[in-house]
Amino acid sequence: MGLLGTAERPLRVAIIGSGPSGFYAADALFKKLPHCTVDMFESLPTPFGLARSGVAPDHENIREITKYFEKVARSERYAFFGNVALGYQISVAVLKKYYDAIIFACGTPVGKNLGIPGEDLPGSYSAATFVGWYNGHPAHAHFPFDLSHETAVVIGVGNVALDIARILTKPVDELKHTDISQHALDVLAASKIKDVYIIGRRGPVQAKFKENEIKELGKITDCACVIKPQDLELNTASEKELEEPSAQRIMTILRELSARPADSIQKRRIHLRFLLSPVRIEGMSHVESILLEQNILVGEPFKQKAKGSGEIVEIPCGAVFSSIGYRANPIPGVPFNHKLGIIANTEGRVVDENGVVPGLYTVGWIKRGPRGLIGSNKPCSAETVQKLLEDLPTLPPCEIPSMDEVKNMLIRRGVRSISYEEWLKIDALERERGKQLDKPRERFTQVSQMLEALGDIKACIQQPDTL
Ligand SMILES: Cc1cc2nc3c(=O)[nH]c(=O)nc-3n(C[C@H](O)[C@H](O)[C@H](O)COP(=O)(O)OP(=O)(O)OC[C@H]3O[C@@H](n4cnc5c(N)ncnc54)[C@H](O)[C@@H]3O)c2cc1C
Repeated sequence: MGLLGTAERPLRVAIIGSGPSGFYAADALFKKLPHCTVDMFESLPTPFGLARSGVAPDHENIREITKYFEKVARSERYAFFGNVALGYQISVAVLKKYYDAIIFACGTPVGKNLGIPGEDLPGSYSAATFVGWYNGHPAHAHFPFDLSHETAVVIGVGNVALDIARILTKPVDELKHTDISQHALDVLAASKIKDVYIIGRRGPVQAKFKENEIKELGKITDCACVIKPQDLELNTASEKELEEPSAQRIMTILRELSARPADSIQKRRIHLRFLLSPVRIEGMSHVESILLEQNILVGEPFKQKAKGSGEIVEIPCGAVFSSIGYRANPIPGVPFNHKLGIIANTEGRVVDENGVVPGLYTVGWIKRGPRGLIGSNKPCSAETVQKLLEDLPTLPPCEIPSMDEVKNMLIRRGVRSISYEEWLKIDALERERGKQLDKPRERFTQVSQMLEALGDIKACIQQPDTL
């Protein structure tokens, strides 16, 4: 003990997950500790998490952040092990033999359920699946979305809900030169959707979307943004909440949108509705309508809760998208806070009922819940790395500090891991496929396609297509 992080015995860290928080953690480690190595394990053959498979295709500038992560990956102290899922091909117990510290950066990939009758009907979808579908994520790309109805309802008023409404209403001509997956573009081109309702449980002041996202909603070609003036009437507590400058700016945008004269020539409409909670989805063999209860707000400013008034509103529709948040998948052997849907932790140190679990850390959405933009993961990861460095003198060293032995262990287990160089080949091929369609990239949507593109037919036969 005490030697870890020196030239004689560099610290060996495994980061699980290659999304923004994983890369920010690697970056912070490289900057703070000259003698350390990071091996990053990722269940997909491709890196960058939601920066690749969450960010909307018409937000190309946001994806640019991957260039920063690419710089981190160029470090000689970094190695990528793609196509290796913790909990499936390797366990925490096995990894502990090869690494002094493990940082979980697995995100929160599971969409939260509405928990109402009718949610299982065909036509009722999770935001996580829809977003993964248009971004070509192998687990979601083949989901059969049915956009043959005229009305869709999106439950939730966060940025993701607004992304979904925008993708459903934007003319395909404005999407076809983005990196949206071709299968999604084809379905959107044939879509019959004319009206999209976005439903918020509380009022406009409590909505979670950001200023830029709501501004964008008002600028979609051939699409009106409809907001009832009475939905923007505020109680005294909400007026008080308007003291926050961002809430005030958002209210100004909403009031401008609400005051716009109705334009009958616009092909599509997005209706923003507040103070409504979903009660039941109705339909015989497919979604036919959704019932919502009108709410009132009760409580102190900044702590107001929605309370049902008993009044029910029905919106006939053929599709419902639930966008009310995400939760993490529990990892076998790692303490989990089931109430919050995250790894149990204090400032990034994993904790159980006996206190801190030595050598285990967490960052990003699986540490603090699905909140915050990409940049907010940087201070979050820095905090965890700081705790890890404070723990260094007492950290028990691992038994087998050797990357070659990690590679041998994966081979023994029959795991076909993807190196960073192989990802760069996949990346180049996707860009090449994109060129043929006049797009920046056309993603591979199956793991087997990626392995085949790398010339690995044997692994391709063994590999399941979905994760
Ligand atoms: C739909 C959507 C759109 C968004 N758009 C924007 C935007 O426009 N701008 C912005 O700034 N922010 C945006 N965000 C927020 C941003 O994406 C998050 O802040 C960020 O991605 C969280 O990073 P993370 O590393 O914690 O998780 P993730 O990005 O989810 O990364 C987790 C990684 O871990 C991998 N993983 C999971 N389980 C395992 C396992 N068992 N073994 C190995 N690997 C595993 C996953 O495959 C994934 O690659 C968006 C989020 C969503 C959901």
